[in-house]
Amino acid sequence: MQKDTEQFRNEYRTTEVSKNYSGKLHFAFTTSWCLALIGTCIYFIHQPTWKEILIIPISFLYINLAEYFGHKGPMHNRKKMLDKVFKRHTLQHHQFFTNQQMQCDSVQDFKMILFPPVLIIFFFFAFAVPVSFVFYIFWSMNAALIFAATVFVYYLNYEYLHLAYHLPDEHFISKLPIIKSLKKLHQTHHNPQLMNSKNFNISYPIFDVIFGTLHKEK
Ligand SMILES: [Zn+2]
Ligand SMILES: [Zn+2]
Repeated sequence: MQKDTEQFRNEYRTTEVSKNYSGKLHFAFTTSWCLALIGTCIYFIHQPTWKEILIIPISFLYINLAEYFGHKGPMHNRKKMLDKVFKRHTLQHHQFFTNQQMQCDSVQDFKMILFPPVLIIFFFFAFAVPVSFVFYIFWSMNAALIFAATVFVYYLNYEYLHLAYHLPDEHFISKLPIIKSLKKLHQTHHNPQLMNSKNFNISYPIFDVIFGTLHKEK
């Protein structure tokens, strides 16, 4: 391991990770809340029309675009209002994990990978609820619920993929072909020379292809 990365990791673990923190609990919280929200939405959806079902691929693309600009924007460019986002991503996540050292050492390092639990609640109120409400007012309850369910499926999928990229190479999940190829793209993004210009999609690189920022290492 590079000396700088090791030093940063040790400092982060002593100053930023409280003794009460549990990576397993963090993972369980993210999973159970997302599944509860998804399950609730699905439970109340009744006989959706094909037009309502079309909301799924369209919102998937919309969230993929939001992921691209959220990462390219505030996560990598300091903005006064979103300074915490920049600090957590560029100054911490990218120091903790570089293209030379992608893997976490224990479940306690999940703190540096998964979004803080409060963000699920933030996403719920700041993103899913207002847009779902618009769908409800101008379209139907089904449309609102399908949109909200898609947001939380995407969120959970994003968290699982990002976690998978930072698991040890020997882990069976790291050996899955889909994870291997997506991880390569994220590993390239963790190269300090490329992090501000390449591979901003963390899940599926749809908008990296569209905007020409996809970079595949040979
Ligand atoms: Zn990462
Ligand atoms: Zn980044």
